[in-house]
Parts: sequence; structure tokens; C-alpha cells
Amino acid sequence: MVRRFTASRLVVASHNEGKVREIADLLAPFAIDIVSAAQLDLPEPEETGDTFVANAVLKANVAAQASGLPALADDSGLAVEALGGAPGLYSARWAGPDRDFQMAMAQVQEKLGQTGNRRAYFVSALALAWPDGHVDCFEGRIHGNLIWPPRGNDGFGYDPMFLPDGYRQTFGEMPYAEKQQISHRAVAFQKLIDGCFEGP
Ligand code: IMP
Repeated sequence: MVRRFTASRLVVASHNEGKVREIADLLAPFAIDIVSAAQLDLPEPEETGDTFVANAVLKANVAAQASGLPALADDSGLAVEALGGAPGLYSARWAGPDRDFQMAMAQVQEKLGQTGNRRAYFVSALALAWPDGHVDCFEGRIHGNLIWPPRGNDGFGYDPMFLPDGYRQTFGEMPYAEKQQISHRAVAFQKLIDGCFEGP
């Protein structure tokens, strides 16, 4: 059973300020006091899981145990059909230590070669963990095609080469507010909100 969120404080189990801000924005209507793992100086575990959900659970559990507060973590990436789901869990790592996503996108394009199948999806897994060990997970996906050359300077990561189904603009061209409404993260958050914040 999904546990309803009744606490007044929530730890966002991330040391990425952008992610923390985005999550705080999404949860703003619920008047919760949000603190980040970085603010509490919590340890950052190694992401050793073999699925997005496993990594989100791992990060949320570590933060909940260390803080004694409920903790929310997310793990996300791009899965390319013709590459057997790669870069997947390694989406950030394909960009190297300099976080060079031009290079990461070029690698995807090179590996795709002439395969003809350019289908891909973004995944976002959310885990909400409690200090007593209870965890609820939610996953969101958005499907689309990978285009080349990449288009647009907005967004981040692989956004400029991802054209979501039913749209003419890549995630790199689309206004931030529009991406926020349809993205994998938006879908996962809607499930979290329905299940834990607005449910019966
Ligand atoms: P995480 O921070 O470990 O979850 O890594 C997520 C990685 O997946 C990011 O560094 C991006 O490369 C990729 N990614 C996840 N979500 C998006 C998105 O919305 N747009 C573009 N790239 C994304």
C-alpha cells in the first residue's frame, strides 16, 4: 500500500542543486519544508543498482536512514531501443567527467549508424523512503525519436536530440514549462502526487 505523506519535512536525496530546485517547485503546493541532502551534509551513495528504480531506492534509503526524515530520490536516463537500452543507467557517465553532452549525443548517433531504428525513451524513477524502511516507487516514461543533428539550446543532457512523439520541437527547443508538463519526470511526479499527496 502506498503511504500517504503526512510529515512536514522532506529530504530531497540529491546533491544536484538544479534537481532539488525542480523537485521543490513541483511540491510547492503542498507546503512542505524541503531540505536537500547537501544541506544536511548527508553521504552520497554509489549508484550500484541495476535498474533506475533500484538506484532511486538506494539513494532515498540512505538519506532517510541518515536524517531520520522521509526522503525522496530520483534516477533518470535515456534508453535507446537499437542500443539495447543504452546509455540507460550510464546516461550521465557517457558525457564523461566534463559533462560533455555534445560528445555523448555524438556517441549515440555514431552507434546508431544506419540501424534505421531511432526509437528511444526517457525514464524517471522516484523513490520516497521512510526512516522505518517503507518505500514507495513511481516511474514515468516519455517515448520519441532521436534526430540528427540535435536542435535547440534549452534543456540539458540529451534534450536536443530527443523529439517526443506528437511534437514538432525537440526537448531542447521546447519552452521549459512545456517540457515540465510532459516529461518522464512530470509523469513520475504526477503518480507520486496522486499516490502520496492527493490520494484518498
Ligand atoms: P541522474 O542524475 O543519475 O539521474 O542522471 C540522469 C542523466 O540522464 C542526466 O545526466 C542526463 O544525461 C540524462 N537525463 C535524465 N533526464 C533527462 C532529461 O530530461 N533530458 C535530458 N537528459 C536527461
